[in-house]
Amino acid sequence: MKQIILIKYGEIILKGLNRHTFEDMLIKNIYAALGPIQAEVWRAQATIYADIKNENEMDEAIFRLKKVFGIVAIIKAYVLSKEFEQLKQEARDCLKEELESANTFKVEAKRADKKYPMKSPDICRELGGFLSDCYPNLKVDVIRPDKLVTVEVRETNVYLYCNRIKGLGGMPVGSNSKAVLLLSGGIDSPVAGFMVAKRGVALEAVHFFSHPYTSQRAKDKVLALAKIIAAYTGGLKVHIVPFTEIQLEIKEKCPPEQLTLIMRRFMMAISEKVAQRVNAKALVTGESIGQVASQTVEALCVTNDAVHLPVFRPVIGMDKEEIVEIARRIDTFETSVLPYEDCCTIFTPRHPLTKPKLENIVKSEGLLDFEGLVASAVAGIETIEV
Ligand code: ATP
Ligand code: MG
Repeated sequence: MKQIILIKYGEIILKGLNRHTFEDMLIKNIYAALGPIQAEVWRAQATIYADIKNENEMDEAIFRLKKVFGIVAIIKAYVLSKEFEQLKQEARDCLKEELESANTFKVEAKRADKKYPMKSPDICRELGGFLSDCYPNLKVDVIRPDKLVTVEVRETNVYLYCNRIKGLGGMPVGSNSKAVLLLSGGIDSPVAGFMVAKRGVALEAVHFFSHPYTSQRAKDKVLALAKIIAAYTGGLKVHIVPFTEIQLEIKEKCPPEQLTLIMRRFMMAISEKVAQRVNAKALVTGESIGQVASQTVEALCVTNDAVHLPVFRPVIGMDKEEIVEIARRIDTFETSVLPYEDCCTIFTPRHPLTKPKLENIVKSEGLLDFEGLVASAVAGIETIEV
């Protein structure tokens, strides 16, 4: 029996955003996520359909759809005849395995085709009765059935299924502008990127690279993380910023306890320049209050002062453990914990400031050619699309 994938999406979003724009964007993202898998994807009656050409690729397709934001449920459904007698026979045959292994069941009908001659309660009663007769092991349980058999009567066909797979939810990437993600090789920033992308924000990543203090291996690790995030965002551009010159300058000219904060202000300023260039409207970091000296409230204020764009910090109120839980779920954790040298750890002062004063930091920055250093770092950017 032919199977098709039904894709359900949230209704909430439809209020604010033009519904068809939303649906078209989701379809575009679905095609991108399916990649080489041949499929025809279309929408009708508040559902998206994905007809996968090669049945053997169905499970791979579902695996990929589980990473598409905006999808609430993914359903592998049988395509049945609308002629009721035939429909009953087909339902009996294609649910054989499912129903033989169950003790209780319930039929639920959704009648999107209002012209269909039978009403929903009649469909439930007739099909339920018929399946009970075919599978004597089965009892009807309308409260907590082992198998919920759903029949959707739609304009062209009837769709039948017992299982729905939970989607990621959120909004289609691209439906909510674009932001620049400061992506390190750590655990937090990939999670931060995931969380912002979930709300429909497209991402480009910036990574600060301190060759030769950090190795090619560190860069590869960041690109590997970017690739994992790219599965959720439909590709990801990574702007690799040469950062060594800036770090050496700060180290030479500024007080050691201010080093990290000045460095972070440079990161922000450079990221803002990238954002302007790629038309992004915000920055995203993986900062969390109090996690390290540069993430005290005072330190975050000093960092924020370096830019005009809003800085989104989706993990700001989360404990490390909670961030790790998400990292595991989205598959970045294993890569994040691989050993590597971080551009920050190499230049970390022994006694960083936890209650920095902005005027002192700005004064130290006066010893440097801040704008010139930013401009030359931006000019040296290498962009890699993963
Ligand atoms: P992560 O937060 O990714 O685990 P981390 O815990 O080492 O890294 P910090 O070094 O304090 O955290 O950095 C805080 C935030 O600054 C990171 O979440 C990330 O957004 C950004 N950041 C730090 N280092 C880099 C880098 N080399 N390139 C790009 N962004 C960086
Ligand atoms: Mg961190």
